[in-house]
Amino acid sequence: MNLTVTDVRLTPILVADPPLLNTQGVHQPYTPRLIVEVETADGITGVGETYGDTKYLELARPLAERLVGRQVSDLNGLFTAADEVAVAASRVSGQVDVGGLRGVQTADKLRLSVVSGFEVACLDALGKALGLPVHALLGGKVRETVEYSAYLFYKWAEHPEGVPAEKDDWGAALDPAGVVEQARVLTERHGFTSYKLKGGVFPPEEEIAAIRALAEAFPGHPLRLDPNGAWSVETSLKVAEELGDLLEYLEDPVLGTPAMAEVAAKTDVPLATNMCVTTFAEIKEAFTRDAVQVVLSDHHYWGGLRNTQQLAAVCRTFGVGVSMHSNTHLGISLAAMTHVSATVPDLHHACDSHYPWQPEDVLTERLTFDGGKVTVSDAPGLGVELDREKLAFLHQRWLDDDGTLRDRDDAAAMRAADPDWVTPSVPRW
Ligand SMILES: [Mg+2]
Repeated sequence: MNLTVTDVRLTPILVADPPLLNTQGVHQPYTPRLIVEVETADGITGVGETYGDTKYLELARPLAERLVGRQVSDLNGLFTAADEVAVAASRVSGQVDVGGLRGVQTADKLRLSVVSGFEVACLDALGKALGLPVHALLGGKVRETVEYSAYLFYKWAEHPEGVPAEKDDWGAALDPAGVVEQARVLTERHGFTSYKLKGGVFPPEEEIAAIRALAEAFPGHPLRLDPNGAWSVETSLKVAEELGDLLEYLEDPVLGTPAMAEVAAKTDVPLATNMCVTTFAEIKEAFTRDAVQVVLSDHHYWGGLRNTQQLAAVCRTFGVGVSMHSNTHLGISLAAMTHVSATVPDLHHACDSHYPWQPEDVLTERLTFDGGKVTVSDAPGLGVELDREKLAFLHQRWLDDDGTLRDRDDAAAMRAADPDWVTPSVPRW
């Protein structure tokens, strides 16, 4: 068996995305992703997926070159190589420090997000070479299925007039009735039994009404609300008081660990985050101040599947819950999330996934939710197969783009409908 990497292919793509609203704006009609393929001397190809914006591509390209000649099993070496590439790149482009829906953006997080696509591709190739599923390489599955929640969004019926976009059949969801209807359709199609609403879009009273409507339509089912830090401490406490008994947890009601700690100290509603604990460096302060009760991992920006397992172990040590965060992603990442989630013993919350919102994929066969769950694959590697025609089609869309969609910008997308829109300062309410 020859596990030497002989080729690494990077394919940036643009995938259709519906007009989903959040506190910063609206999803672009097409969002960038990067597909990573790692090929070994034996002709085995492993696939990975990560963010595809320009700054990720700029790091991915030199890392891809550096991997040729190394072993796909050398996952620790992958991190060293990424460090070297990132140091070289930082001399050119400097630090990244822009706020976003995933917390503060740093050079460290950028590097780890790039590494994650390569780590998953290497694990896929290694699993195929050994005839083992990725979960086995991570120590083995402790469950047969991984549960996901219905990810509800306020949504326009279509992208703004004049903006080239794909049509979708979800309709609009801009009030409690629309949110409930969307939840019903998601449930019919995929069998979800827990619900998360992306908030921070409308004044809190309207989002409180939407959660109440969901509680009425789906009595006893776990509900979550995530305004992405759009609220003040006072507003967060008011929402927690009003919705307390209905919420499984409140996700990032305020920005930053000190404010989260302030809210947590005054409510019994658990607080979850994918914004104030996004790196190992942020754990100590948040956990010692009891600022968060659930960390939503994301294998992309935590640096891959093994780092996600390490995060889960730290959370377990401190009695903090763990689940999975999701950004727009395709089937490769859903498969990766499912493999790693299958190995985390105390995963007590359904994971998030945007996958139902992505009609396009690069796989020969889409992954499916049955009863809101994805069955953990026992096929070698991730258990998915790349469809080269679909990949080529989505890559061509990226090639044809004049550059405006290659870097996701929800505020810019919102300006197509509202030319005066600027990213709201927080707290917004
Ligand atoms: Mg979130």
